[in-house]
Amino acid sequence: MNSSFFNKIFISQFGSINPPWIHKDVFYKLPFNFCDRWCERCRLSNICRVYQKEKESEKKFIKQGIDPKSTEAMLLSMSESFEETKKLLEKDMKRLKIKITKNDNEKYEKDKLVQNDPLIQVAKKLCISLVKLVEDLHYYFLEKTPKEIKEPLKILNYYMLFFSVKIHRAILSTIEEKEMKYEDSTFDSKNSAFLSYVSVVKIINALKNILNYKNFDYNLKKKITKYLSLFENLNLVLKERFDLEYK
Ligand code: SF4
Repeated sequence: MNSSFFNKIFISQFGSINPPWIHKDVFYKLPFNFCDRWCERCRLSNICRVYQKEKESEKKFIKQGIDPKSTEAMLLSMSESFEETKKLLEKDMKRLKIKITKNDNEKYEKDKLVQNDPLIQVAKKLCISLVKLVEDLHYYFLEKTPKEIKEPLKILNYYMLFFSVKIHRAILSTIEEKEMKYEDSTFDSKNSAFLSYVSVVKIINALKNILNYKNFDYNLKKKITKYLSLFENLNLVLKERFDLEYK
């Protein structure tokens, strides 16, 4: 199957998406490892442990008289999740015989390598441009956003930071995976690159849909056409660099 066929599928899939190299059993057990966290649109929320836990904690907050959407609830959830992550990390470090040292140089070197990567620099610039474009579109349409523009704008809003964060993670993981034994690797670099690729497919489609709208500003249209081709190139690079082939 060719990649344009897959791209069409990606346009309508939200939430968790099975990368072609991940076995279905693993995917259905851990769908939250392959998702964009758009839970309301995810077809696997009924089997997802992360989602179920989130709902349970929402109920707990309501019982305690705390609004689950409040900052207080967010901070309490974060502290709980940090505690849990710390315990899991300690367990894994023991298993992999990793010791914490006071030397931060290694981390600093990795950060420098990531920041100097040309792909990160391109992704950051594109991310900033897209955020500005979305702002321009909001100002242009204000409360009178036509209904055919609402959905593409929602999609751009959701993915405008996501694609770049995932590229950052893909590059950092590539560096870390070089230091791991093959059997300890979870192929996070490829999986993160895949999620970024899928989000860029959606960004491209949303930009195309906005372009189809006839009555709006010529300069905005010109800008969108330019970004469209930049995002298409970005996906070609992601596909090539992280070997995201669809066979
Ligand atoms: S329901 Fe689970 S898998 Fe789906 S988007 Fe939410 S966290 Fe991810």
